[in-house]
Amino acid sequence: MSGGEAPGRTGSLTVRAGAATDVGRVRDHNEDSLLADRRVFAVADGMGGHAAGEVASNIAVQTLAELAHVPRLRRQDLVEGLTLANRRILESVRRHPEQAGMGTTVTGVAVVDESGSEHWAVFNLGDSRVYRFADDRLSLLTVDHSEVQHLVDAGLITPQEALRHPLRNVVTRSLGLDTMPEVDVELRVPEPGERFVVCSDGLNGELSDDELAELLRRHDDPDAAAAALVQAAVDVGGRDNVSVVVVDVQP
Ligand code: MN
Repeated sequence: MSGGEAPGRTGSLTVRAGAATDVGRVRDHNEDSLLADRRVFAVADGMGGHAAGEVASNIAVQTLAELAHVPRLRRQDLVEGLTLANRRILESVRRHPEQAGMGTTVTGVAVVDESGSEHWAVFNLGDSRVYRFADDRLSLLTVDHSEVQHLVDAGLITPQEALRHPLRNVVTRSLGLDTMPEVDVELRVPEPGERFVVCSDGLNGELSDDELAELLRRHDDPDAAAAALVQAAVDVGGRDNVSVVVVDVQP
């Protein structure tokens, strides 16, 4: 599945986005949800049995979608929106006890107004990621909230070992917890020609940074880039759902 949107002007910033998601080759349903709507771009990777994960990830992106049309969105609106999404997930569990334990990561970029000018807000809860590709170089902008990231930070395992570690799926911050966790938000000054990749771990669990960079180099069109990244992750294993949003800042 793949879908993008027409070029959109958001104040002085013109952005173009493409998106793709796939269930992969192992899971029987897709618990990821994604959003590419003018000012807000996000991926949510749901967890929980009985299809509850997709309920949680859907609540996260639907709640963020309500922010996409807010003029002069502020960093605080983003944090409040994510806090509202958390409450909606808990409320859904109260009404549907079979959803107990469901939760979701939520990660992305949004255009926010900061001191009168537009900035990117890079936000994260969980182990989905935001990469930046610019000047032919790929860099990771988010820090995973996961058990294996703690082990990597402590020098106990390498990032490569983290990919195969038994605790690799344990996230330490997410939506769906009784206490809303602190959201990582980093503000960045937009740069013409930069590209962001928002993805679920089904992408970076299958492809190396070099492979990601090569595919981004090869596909100028953001829809084509998103589709190619997802397809490559499925082709080499597809052990998890994989979702990608590619956001280009027009030169
Ligand atoms: Mn996943």
